[in-house]
Parts: sequence; structure tokens; C-alpha cells
Amino acid sequence: MTNKDLADLIFPNITKSIEDYENLYPKRNLEEGAKVVRFAPSPTGFMHIGNMMSAVINYVLAKKSNGVFFLRNEDTDQARTVEGALEFIHHILNHYHLNPDEYEFNGEIKGNYGPYVQSERIEIYHAFIKHLITIGRAYPCFLTPDELNEIREYQTKSKKRIGIYGRYAKYRYLSLEEAAAKIQNGEKYVIRFKSEGDFNKKFIFEDLTKGKIEMPENDIDVPIMKSENKLPTYHFAHIVDDHLMRTTHVVRGEEWMSSIPLHYELFKAFNFKMPKYIHTSLILKKDGDTIRKISKRKDPEALMFYYEEKGYPYLAVIDAVLTIANSNFEEWRTNNIDKPFYEFPFSPKKMSSSGALFDLDKLDNISKNYISRMSAKDLYQEYLTWAKKYDEHTYELINKYKEDTINFLNIERESQKPRKDYENYSSIFNKSWYMYDEEWNRDLVYEFKNIKDKEEIINITSEYLNNYYDDSDSEEIWFNKMKELCTKMGYTSNMKEYKENPDKYKGNIADFSTVIRVVLTTSSMTPNLYDIMQILGKERMLKRLEIFKERY
Ligand code: GLU
Repeated sequence: MTNKDLADLIFPNITKSIEDYENLYPKRNLEEGAKVVRFAPSPTGFMHIGNMMSAVINYVLAKKSNGVFFLRNEDTDQARTVEGALEFIHHILNHYHLNPDEYEFNGEIKGNYGPYVQSERIEIYHAFIKHLITIGRAYPCFLTPDELNEIREYQTKSKKRIGIYGRYAKYRYLSLEEAAAKIQNGEKYVIRFKSEGDFNKKFIFEDLTKGKIEMPENDIDVPIMKSENKLPTYHFAHIVDDHLMRTTHVVRGEEWMSSIPLHYELFKAFNFKMPKYIHTSLILKKDGDTIRKISKRKDPEALMFYYEEKGYPYLAVIDAVLTIANSNFEEWRTNNIDKPFYEFPFSPKKMSSSGALFDLDKLDNISKNYISRMSAKDLYQEYLTWAKKYDEHTYELINKYKEDTINFLNIERESQKPRKDYENYSSIFNKSWYMYDEEWNRDLVYEFKNIKDKEEIINITSEYLNNYYDDSDSEEIWFNKMKELCTKMGYTSNMKEYKENPDKYKGNIADFSTVIRVVLTTSSMTPNLYDIMQILGKERMLKRLEIFKERY
């Protein structure tokens, strides 16, 4: 019996060779330097910020080099598949406009290098496994779950390395005839890679992020095909896929770094050229005085739901991710304020190897700046879209008061130094609720400052609204009238004079206008009062004064 006979016994229907597949998926016809990258998440959990970092970097690398960005569904761990996880990946890529050039979803395939779903590539993997068995680099292993447990327990207790290697890999020594007999007998088996490595020897691996690293050779006979559904493991599948899909750069999380010795040996066993690797930093967060890994269980911001629910503009989130991916991104952004993010010259070398500290305050800052530069109309549209999905009440109000809302959002916007008060769409309402009469009628808590006397407040506001204010006044006239009344009622509009002789006056123009501001809005901190009064209009303001009289 030969290795080939055993391979035929295990895969009787597999007839294509590796060369056949290489011909089916030829070298891509791309310009020099074009990068072929893939985002290859497993649908075993919902997309998190670490996945997002890989997706963004992949997108930038492909876009900047006129390359290809494809999406591969790595669904070989079917027992751990989470319902909705795959749909969520597509949703997020779509939401962030990180659309892959090649993918497969809901029966639609785009691209010539598919299928892009690993469970649909089983025949391809089997051809590659068959090849390894034929050349004596893979074998069936009949260790039972109990035996595997025993080995693991023994290795743990005696502080040995965990895994099937050396004398633990007992089925690598089985004769071909014995192996064939067991298979014909219906015994369960997995296919293991037959490692030729020596753990005591080292090799040099060059990671584009971390540079040259010395690592011990792999000597573990890892399973490459599972027993129950004959699917490959991730380690094996990604070697085959990245080879046939002609990947040039693998961007993946740092947690895969320790698997490099195995992947290195697998590529070598096939004589395939390894793609280049960019291992992205772990994402860290500050927690009190300590810095720790961000946690999907403890930190809501670890999962990608968070940013959409809060209503962060998608471009602000991408900028925040790039800010922690590359230390020079922020500077680049300052100098290239309007450039699309994918023009940033991302450099793997500028990734921190000790981890990337993700900070929500930083995101808020980026986002505030970003929102401040949007036009009021665009912001309104985004706000409306967000509210429709996440906040029905707000949606109804801002839909009803469309013009008012746009006008309010436009206050102090179109200027050299626009206001920066919103970090996301969900924070707008808390800073604008007083513009909506329905909201206004709820629990009113007035934040008066220096002048608190009810009679005086009513006098000032009533006098101004009834006898001075006119909806058609320009801001200048409006302010002059305010100063006029202010002086007439015993206050001063001359701040210098007030500082020198405070006892001569009841207060100054700031105290005076604060009264009107608070009666109309409840808050002493609002955007420009003139604009607010223009939006509300005289009639509504007079009604508010009446309500004030009853409720204060
Ligand atoms: N399916 C792997 C994961 O989700 C992908 C790693 C890779 O990109 O190769 O972690």
C-alpha cells in the first residue's frame, strides 16, 4: 500500500490536483505593487473594534495601491456560529462604506476567486489535504476525545507543552495498512498535519508590523480536517485560500502571531510563497489607573453596535481607528482635513507593538470636529436617519419641526470657528429639546444665574418681548434694543464701567440677557440667543413667558 492508496481511500471522489486549482484561479492581473487583501472574520461573534481595525487597514491598503479588497466568510467552526453575526458583518461594512470588491452574500457572488465562504470550498480543501497525504505530510489520527483529554491532563500536570507532537502523536507511526483497516472499520478520525519541525530550532520570521522575529519551529501535528463534518480547521483553510485567492498581505489580529510557526511550516509543505503579514495591535483601554485589553463582555464600546446606536458619524469612527492604528495619522489628518481617509499612507511599522490605546474621549473630539464641519442640512439628514432607527420620539419631533431643527443646527455653524457641541447624533437632543414646544411643557427647571427674583424676571422679559422685540430686526438692531432696555431698567451694557462701579447698577448686560435666555430655553448656556429667538418667533416666546409665570 502507498500513501496515494490511503489518500484515494479517504478521498475517493477528489480528482482535481493543486495545479488544476492554480489554473482555475490564476495570478491576478494587477499593476505592480497592487495589494490583494482580505477581511476574513468568523461569524462566531459580533464584529468588534479589533475586526474593524483590520477591515479599515485592509481597505486603505487596497484602495491606495489600486489593489483588491475581498471578504471571506471563515465559517468552519460551525458549532460556534452565532446567528446574525454574518449579517452584521455585511451591515457594518456597508454602514462604514468599506465595501469589498469581492464577496459572497445571500446567494450573490462578486469576483472570480470564490466561493468566498469556506464551508462551500470543502472540495478544494480536500484536494489539498489529499495532496499532503500523498506526499506523506498528513495522516489520519484515531485518538479518541478521552485519550486526548488524558494527554492534555498529563501534559498540564507535568508542565509539558500542550499538543500532539513527538511520542504523543502515536498515529503518525501506524502502518498504512492498519490505518486503512481502521477507516474501513468505520473508526472516527481527524487528519493531522505531519510536522517535520524541531521545537529546539529557531527560524526568522519577518512581520511587517513587528519586524524580524526569531521563533521556534513548529513540531505539533495539528488537525487540518475535523472528523464530524470533514471541514478544515482555520489554520489549514486560510493557507489554501490565501494561496488560491492570491492574497499578498494578511492583516489580522495579534492573537494569531503565535500560530506563525505552524502557518510557516504549512506554506513550506506545499512550497507556496507566504503572503506578507501585518499583525494589528491589541486594542487596550484605560480602566481607572490600569490599562487593559478591551473586553467584549465588559466594555460596550468593544462591539460595533455601540457607535451606530450612539450615532457617531461613520467617518469619525474610521478616523478614530486610524488614529490608534498609526501614530502619525493625527498629524496627517490635521494637514489634510478634507482628504478621504484611504489616502493616508498607512505604515505597518508605525503600529504600536505594545497595543493601541482606544479612548472614547478622543473619538468624541474627532467626532465633534467632524460634525462641526457638516452643513446643517447634511447634519439634519444624518440625525433624522439615526433617529428613525434608534429614537422614535426624537424622530417624530425633528420630522415635524424640520425647518426649526435645521435652523437651530445652523446656529454658529458656517463660520471659521464653528461651535463644537455634538459628539454624536444621540447627544443633539439633550442640547436642543427646549426648541420643541411639546418637550418644553414637561418638567421645567430654570437655571437662572444672578437675577432670580420672579417679578424682575417677568418685567425684563415682558418688557423686551412686548415693547422692543420685533421678528424682522437684524441682529444689530436686536442687540441695540436690548442694550437700550437694559440701561433703562437700571443695568449697564458697559462691562468696564460695571467692573469699576458695580454698586451703581442692578447688574450688567450679561445678567440681563441671561434672564431672557433662561425664560425662553430654561438654560443659561445656549447657542446665540438672537438666532434662537428668530426660530421661536414672538408668538411662541410670549406663550413661554405665560408658562414661566405659572411654573416658576
Ligand atoms: N477567521 C479569523 C478570525 O476571525 C481570521 C484571521 C485572519 O484574518 O486570518 O480571527
